Amino acid sequence: MSIIKKPFIKKRICRFCSEKIDIDYKDARMLRHFVTERGKIKSRRMTGTCSTHQRHLAEAIKTARVIALLPFSMQ
Ligand SMILES: [Zn+2]
Repeated sequence: MSIIKKPFIKKRICRFCSEKIDIDYKDARMLRHFVTERGKIKSRRMTGTCSTHQRHLAEAIKTARVIALLPFSMQ
């Protein structure tokens, strides 16, 4: 039997809870960790972010898109 481990999932610990980072929509470098190369917001399963922070994160990413810090989509 072989168990395939998914590379994205390490620990189910929310980065924002454990490191007490504030989600800043102006911090595009930080936000980029939470979007795919296609510009989509990564799911909670992929990042391990808790539901509260995932919601804040999604809002921050949407705001960042409007002010052109993040792309809406990439090809
Ligand atoms: Zn959290």
